[in-house]
Amino acid sequence: MKTVLVLGGTGEARELAAALVDLRVISSLAGRVADPKLPVGEVRVGGFGGVDGLIAYLRAERVDAVVDATHPFADRITANALAATTATGTPFLVLRRPGWPPEDGWRYVDSVAEAAALVAGRRAFITTGRQELGAFTGGVARTVDPPDPPNPRLHVVLDRGPYTVDGEVRLMREHRVEVLVTKDSGGPMTAAKLTAARHLGIPVVVVRRPPPPPAPLVETVAEAVEWLTRGSGAG
Ligand code: NAP
Repeated sequence: MKTVLVLGGTGEARELAAALVDLRVISSLAGRVADPKLPVGEVRVGGFGGVDGLIAYLRAERVDAVVDATHPFADRITANALAATTATGTPFLVLRRPGWPPEDGWRYVDSVAEAAALVAGRRAFITTGRQELGAFTGGVARTVDPPDPPNPRLHVVLDRGPYTVDGEVRLMREHRVEVLVTKDSGGPMTAAKLTAARHLGIPVVVVRRPPPPPAPLVETVAEAVEWLTRGSGAG
């Protein structure tokens, strides 16, 4: 049976692991979240130890194909996966959900730090994850696990999607939010905040994605299954 390594940490990675029934699938998680939602099947947790560690892992497990289904902003593991699969000649596919279609009132920036500078002095609703929160001066940050490092100037709400529009409107009103800060993560899991911001007339600062790697790329789980079973993957 062919072995596929799915680099995960996203809903799409869990869906892909569930959809691949006739292959041996190993799902890999970074181990950042204390209580992660686990994919079905075989799971390994923790870094590989850079490119060399990943090369050794691909060889030891006799991996036939790698699907990078990590978050669009997890660019180090993506770069490592590209380098390791190139070195070993392992077929490599990137599964990236599309970003959100831009709307009026959205301002794009290139980094979380740039977003923090732009919203300084305003009560922001910050949804960019628990890292890189140090530069924000005020507002509410929503994270799955507590911010690292902590930022005493922010009110923290610990929660995990999917979210509802009503819930997001309530939260933004309760904290008298003046601006929303988000990564261009895409997908439905966290999109309710964007609808809520539109309803409330709140401007949105969107952190642009890092560029995709130079590798075959698909946007849906179905396309990834197709690639693995019929295309240049492990099928
Ligand atoms: P990153 O900066 O791209 O990766 C940093 C290091 O973490 C990698 O070099 C690798 O360590 C390890 N790593 C990352 N993803 C891994 C995986 N799926 N399996 C094994 N090791 C992994 O990653 P990140 O941005 O911190 O994201 C970490 C995880 O959280 C990813 O799985 C990602 O899908 C998920 N996530 C990230 C975001 C985000 O905004 N960045 C949002 C939601 C979910 P070694 O070099 O030791 O192999």
